[in-house]
This record gives sequence, structure tokens and C-alpha cells, in this order.
Amino acid sequence: MAFTDTLSTIQRNHVIVLQDGYSRQEDGDETSMRANCTSTLIRCRDGTNVIVDTMTAWDGERLCSLLGDHGVGVDNVDVVVCSHGHSDHIGCNYLFQNARMHLVGSCASYRDLYLNHFSSEDQDEELALDSNAEVVVRRTPGHTHSCVSVIVDNSQLGGRVGITGDLFERREDIEDESIWKDAGSECVKLQRKERCKMAHLCDFIVPGHGPMFSVIASMRDKLKQDADLST
Ligand SMILES: [Zn+2]
Repeated sequence: MAFTDTLSTIQRNHVIVLQDGYSRQEDGDETSMRANCTSTLIRCRDGTNVIVDTMTAWDGERLCSLLGDHGVGVDNVDVVVCSHGHSDHIGCNYLFQNARMHLVGSCASYRDLYLNHFSSEDQDEELALDSNAEVVVRRTPGHTHSCVSVIVDNSQLGGRVGITGDLFERREDIEDESIWKDAGSECVKLQRKERCKMAHLCDFIVPGHGPMFSVIASMRDKLKQDADLST
């Protein structure tokens, strides 16, 4: 029994939320916000380690320690994905010098070499990060035109996981659109469409500034209504 458990653990891709992100008004100052991103580690079953969103530049020690809790050192991270280029999602990219690729939004690079991913017109193009093609990046524009999300199939959670950055700010923004709109949207119409698409593709969503949540039917209905109204 123990052997089977171990085997099934190894045969799944593990999605580990290192930090639940947040965003809120600064106490006593209506003009300022406090925000940091949800940061996620994916331990792919082929041994590839992926980090999605690396917090602010002041979080280096914290991020190292959170990774260490899962037995991962900064030199063991193979791919860095930032859902988009805002400062609270890219701040600690510098830690991952051993990675074979840094992807900031849809722009992929290794050192000073810029790679030709996501250059086609195909908006549904997917870039596999693991050898099983179970962990893929796809474009999800809206919050910024260059935003991407990571989709993890065959996860330990038993369903498909979408790590979406600020496409979703947090779970509550499904009922209250002002939450994601107030966080900034370069194209509201596109963002509605991509939110609907991701909710239909995924069983779980890891949003940009809140804890992971399960996607339920009523959420998909609401997001479909929002997207349809937007066309
Ligand atoms: Zn953000």
C-alpha cells in the first residue's frame, strides 16, 4: 500500500503554493496599496521544477526559505515563469541563475538570448515546460496584453490547475468584477473572454493575489455571462 502511494505521488505533477498573494488598501492612506503575488512551485513528475511569479525584489530570503521547505534550492529551478512583467511578479527572478529559461509574460529569454516562443498569430499556442507536455504555458491577455498562465494536467489535486496571475485577482472577483478591473486591465473585453476560457479549462485556479480555489459550475456560468455581455 505504501509502495502504491509513493508511486502515485511520483506519477503526479505537484502544484505547491508557496505564498498566498494579497492586495489591499494601505491602512490610513487611500492613495496607496499593499500587494504581493501568489507564488507557486510546480514539481513536475519528470523532475523539472518550475516557479511561477517570484514576488518583489525584497523577498529573496523569504522565497529561498519557502523553496527550502520543499527541498528545492534556487539552483534546482529549471524554468521561471512570470505571469506578466509587474514588479511584484518578477522581483526575485535574479535568484534563478541556473534556469534554462525565464519567461516574463510571453517574452522568453536565457541570459541575453531572446527566444522565439509565442511569436505566431496562434493565440492558443501552448509551450510545454516538461517532457510529458502536462505543464504548459498559454497566453491569457487582459490584465496586460502580454499575460500568460500555466496549466498543469495530471496534478496531485486530481484535476487540472490554472496558475493565472492577475487574470483573476482572487476568488471574490468572480462575483465582483470591480476587484479585477480596479487592479488594472489593459483590455477588459479580452480579460473577460480569457477568464471564461480558463474557468472552463480548469478545475482549480491559483489567482494572482489570493489563495487557490476550486472552480464550480456557477462560477463558469457567471463568467460566461460576463464574457457574452462583453461581445
Ligand atoms: Zn499583480
